[in-house]
Amino acid sequence: MRKKIVAGNWKMNMTPSQAVALCETLKPLVAGSEADVVFCVPAIDIVPVVEAVKGTNIEVGGENLYFEDKGAYTGEISADMLLDAGCKYVIIGHSERRDYFKETDEIVNKKVKKAIEKGLTPIMCCGESLEQREQGITLDWIRMQIKIGLQGVDAADVAKMVIAYEPIWAIGTGVTATTEQAQEVCGAIRQCIAEIYCQDTADAVRIQYGGSVNAGNAAELFSQPDIDGGLVGGASLKADFGVIANA
Ligand code: PEP
Repeated sequence: MRKKIVAGNWKMNMTPSQAVALCETLKPLVAGSEADVVFCVPAIDIVPVVEAVKGTNIEVGGENLYFEDKGAYTGEISADMLLDAGCKYVIIGHSERRDYFKETDEIVNKKVKKAIEKGLTPIMCCGESLEQREQGITLDWIRMQIKIGLQGVDAADVAKMVIAYEPIWAIGTGVTATTEQAQEVCGAIRQCIAEIYCQDTADAVRIQYGGSVNAGNAAELFSQPDIDGGLVGGASLKADFGVIANA
C-alpha cells in the first residue's frame, strides 16, 4: 500500500520571514494528515523553514538542484547543500524550469541521479503542453520524459522516488485536468515503469498529480488508483493546503 504524499511548491514566493509565518499558519492545519507532507521552498527559505517545522510531520524539500557536487557554478545549489540544510526531497524538472531555464530531459536525468546518489528523494516532474494534448501525443511525450529522466536509475531507487504528472496547461491556470485525464496519464506512467523495470517497482513508485489542485478537487483526484497525492503550487501558500493535505 503506497502512502500518499502531498507536496507544496512555493515557487519564487515568500521571503524568509513570510515563510516562517506561513509555516506557523499551516502547521496545525496539516498536523492530522495521513499523507507525507512536504514543503518545497525557495533556497533561501530552507534553513528557517526547517527550523520552523522541527518536531512536526512536515518535511522540507528544495525546488531545484545542480548536478555537479560543487565549484564554479554561480547561483546554483548542490545536493549536499540541500541535505545539510535539512531537506529530504527535491523537485526536479518542473515545467517552469524546463521552459524558462531550458532544462532538457538529459539535464533532468543528471539531476535525478545526483539527488539519488546523495540520498535526496527526487520529485521528478513531467507533463505535456496543451498543443501536445490536442495533437494526441500526450502519452508518447510523457513516456519519453519518463524513459530519459530515469535512464541509468536502478529499480530500487525508482521505487523510492516520486513522479509528478503536471500537465503544463493546468499549472497556475485554474484549469484542472479532469479526474479521468489525470488518472489516465498517471496509470500510463505506472505502466511505463512496469515495462522499463518490473511490476513491483511500478507498484511502489508514488505518482502525484499537479495542476490547479485545490481544496475542492483534491479528494476526488487523490482517490484515483494511480494518483498518490499532489504537487500543489498556488494553493500551498494558503490555508487551503491544510484541506488538501487531509484530502
Ligand atoms: C506547480 O507549480 O507545481 C503547480 C501544480 O502549480 P498550481 O497548483 O498553482 O497549478
